[in-house]
Amino acid sequence: MSAHPHFDRTHTDDLAAFLSASPSQYHAVASAAERLEKAGFRQVSETDAWDGEAGGRYVLRGGAIIGWYVPVGARPETPFRIVGAHTDSTNLRVKPVPDTSSYGWRQLAVEIYGGALLNTWLDRDLGLSGRIVLRDGGTALVNLNRPLLRVPQLAVHLDRGVNEGGLKLDKQRHMQPVWGLGELDEGALVRIVAEEAGVDPAQVVGWDLMTHDVQPPAYLGLDGEFLAAGRLDNLLSVHAGTAALASAAAQPDLPYIPVLAAFDHEENGSESDTGAGGPLLGNVLERSVFARGGSYDHRARAFAGTICVSADTGHAVHPNYAEKHDPTHRPLPNGGPILKVNVNQRYATDGTGRGIFAAACDRAGVPWQTFVSNNAMPCGTTIGPITAARHGITTVDVGVPILSMHSARELCGVADPYLLASALKAFLED
Ligand code: ZN
Repeated sequence: MSAHPHFDRTHTDDLAAFLSASPSQYHAVASAAERLEKAGFRQVSETDAWDGEAGGRYVLRGGAIIGWYVPVGARPETPFRIVGAHTDSTNLRVKPVPDTSSYGWRQLAVEIYGGALLNTWLDRDLGLSGRIVLRDGGTALVNLNRPLLRVPQLAVHLDRGVNEGGLKLDKQRHMQPVWGLGELDEGALVRIVAEEAGVDPAQVVGWDLMTHDVQPPAYLGLDGEFLAAGRLDNLLSVHAGTAALASAAAQPDLPYIPVLAAFDHEENGSESDTGAGGPLLGNVLERSVFARGGSYDHRARAFAGTICVSADTGHAVHPNYAEKHDPTHRPLPNGGPILKVNVNQRYATDGTGRGIFAAACDRAGVPWQTFVSNNAMPCGTTIGPITAARHGITTVDVGVPILSMHSARELCGVADPYLLASALKAFLED
C-alpha cells in the first residue's frame, strides 16, 4: 500500500505533535499520561495500596509508564494483552560537571547515550531537555526548545581525506557542543535550566538532561509520503500503543486486560529499575491480580494466558545499501508494520507469534511485512526477548520500518504509524 497524497494524516499529525512535546523520555511519559488521563485513566502510586475496581490506571516511574484498563467483570485470573515499547532515544547527555571551556569557547560536557549515529548530531541546532531534581526531592521537566548548542564539524580544508576515508569521530574529543564564548562559566547550565523551570538555581541538586534537534517533524517527499523526525525510534510505537490502549478502554466486554508498558533504557540494554529487565511490569501485573483478590495460582494462570506485542522500529530496505538486507525480506515504508523474526531470539517472535500478529492485522484490515536480518549482519534487539524471558510471557516483535535508525532525524512512511496503531488496537481489543 503506498501512501496516497490524500491519505488521512490525522494520526500522523498527532504523532508529530507527540514527538515535538516529547524531547526526552520524561516528557514522553508525561505526554502519554496526558492522553490516558483524557481517556479517563488516573495515576496510582506504587507506594499506595491498590483497589481491584474496574477502570483505567497508570504508574509513572522516571522515564517509564505502565498503563492498564481493568474491564467490568475482570476476574483475578483474567490474562493481559500488553503492548510493549521504549521511551528512550539515542542522543547526547549532560555530564555531572557540565561546564567546560577550551581556547575561548564555552562548552557543555556530554556523554553518548546508546548507539547514536554520531555524525548526525554534527552541525545541527540543538536544544536541551529532561528533568531537574530539586533540594526538596521534587522534580521539574525542562525543555529549552531553541537553538542553544552545536557540535561543529571540522572544515573539509582541515580534514582533507574525510570524503574518501570516512569521518572518524572520537566520542570524547569531538562530540562536545559549543554554546558560548569566554572563560569558564561555572554554573551556566544550572542557571539556564533553573531559569527555565522558574526555580532558584541553589535548589537544583541533580539533573538528567539531553540534547535534541530543534527542527520540528516534517512531511517529506514528492507526495509527502514520508515523515522526517527525531525519536521515531521509539516514540512512534509509544504513541501508537497509547492510542491503542485509550481506544481499548472505550470498548465494552473486553476478554483481556489491555496494558501499555513503555520502558526506559532500551538503548543501553534495559537493565535498570525503569527498564524492561527490571521488575516494574511484573510488579504491576501481579499487584493488579492480587488487588482483585487473586492468589499466586491466579497470577500464574493470568501470566500463562498473557501475550505481549513488543513494538519498536525496524529497518526498511535502504535503496543505496540493498546488499545489507536479506534478498527476500525487504520491507518498504507505507507497506504496513513488520513482523520481526530472528531464530536466535534477538527478536521473540516465533510461529505462534506470527499467527497472533497476522490475526490482529487481518481484523484491522492492515497489510504487514516481515523482517529478518541478512545472515552476515548482526541483528539488533528489543525489549521483546527480555520481557518473554523475565516474565514467561508469549511475546511477538513487530514495528514500523524506518531509514536512518539512531540518527538525530529518522524517516518513516506517513501511513505506517496509523497502520501500526490500528493493528495494536485490534490486538488489545480482540
Ligand atoms: Zn528502538
